[in-house]
Order: sequence, then C-alpha cells, then structure tokens
Amino acid sequence: MAAKPTFSQEISNLLYASKGNPLKTCIQCGTCSGTCPVAEFMDQTPRRLIGMINANLKEDVLACNTYWFCASCYHCTARCPSKIDIAEVMYAVKRYSIWHKTYSEDLVGPTFSETFVRTIVNSGRSFEPVLAPTYMFSMGIKEVLQEAYMGTQMMLKGRMPVLPTKIKRLDNFKEMIRRIIPVGGGK
Ligand code: SF4
Ligand code: SF4
Repeated sequence: MAAKPTFSQEISNLLYASKGNPLKTCIQCGTCSGTCPVAEFMDQTPRRLIGMINANLKEDVLACNTYWFCASCYHCTARCPSKIDIAEVMYAVKRYSIWHKTYSEDLVGPTFSETFVRTIVNSGRSFEPVLAPTYMFSMGIKEVLQEAYMGTQMMLKGRMPVLPTKIKRLDNFKEMIRRIIPVGGGK
C-alpha cells in the first residue's frame, strides 16, 4: 500500500500548476516576509509559514490567518532567491483549508473565496453585488454605508452592472475551468 503523503507533500502536490521551485529549496532568508505588505497582520510571516509546511506542522499552519490575509500581490514570489512561488503556496493552503473545512467560522476569506469562485464558474464574470455581502457585515455601519454608496454610484455611472451577465461560450469556459481547478474538493 502506498505511503500516506505528508502535509508538505500534499501542499506541494497542490502546486502542480505553479512554475516555482519545490518548497524544500527554501533557505529561510526572510526576503518574502520583509517584502510582504501585510506581514504585520499575519499570525505567522510567509517565511515562517514555508518553514512550518516543510516541518509538516499541519495543525499550526491551518490554524493561522497568514494565507487568508495574503493579498496576492506576488512581491514575495518575484523576490524569492530560491524561486519559490510563495503566493501560489498561499492559494494552495487556502484550497486545502476549504476542502478540509479547517478554517474558523469567523473568517471572511473562505466564504468570500467560495462565492467568488462559484460566481466565476457559473457566469464567467465577477459580480460585486453578490460578493459584497460576504464581507460587508463584518464591517462597521459607517463602512457598510460607504460601500453601499460607492456601489450605487458605480451602478449609476455604468461602472458596475445592475444584473449579473454571462460571457459568451460559457460551456467552453466551464470545461477549461474544470480542467485546471478541481472545484468542490481535492480529497
Ligand atoms: S524568500 Fe524564498 S527562500 Fe527566502 S524565506 Fe521566503 S520562501 Fe524561503
Ligand atoms: S503575495 Fe501574499 S504573502 Fe506574498 S508578499 Fe504579497 S501579500 Fe505577502
């Protein structure tokens, strides 16, 4: 019987579409953490997260907020001397967390990510009025009103559609997505 993959191997396997080098080539230099614009809000810095994955500290990795706070700016990926695609690692851990339902219920990120992907898969387009409720109610009343005002202004100026629209040849798009994203689970 084949040996059960380690957590580090599971995450590495989720990076199949990434062109980065293997996680094991990390030299723990800290360039990613020093580059990251949101590192101060993370429980663990990107450098520590990579080290924790390599050490198979699965529970600690999944419990931290680091990958949910990643803004996908790709600065770390561009500057890593070992050419590891750290931003894709963040996505891989997000997917793992969603599929295994290990995230905490009070996080905005998982619901936002799932709604975003579902909207894209069903229509080929993002639609902000569907996405906004996934994070708006975690804000204060002032911010909710600001968001609602901005959304209304965008609709009035034709910068945001009132109703969702679909792309042409949606079936072709869905087939393409089906090949690159195992939507619904990797277990
Ligand atoms: S920049 Fe690259 S090599 Fe340096 S700690 Fe981050 S992942 Fe590791
Ligand atoms: S991609 Fe994410 S982890 Fe990397 S620098 Fe940007 S915010 Fe930080």
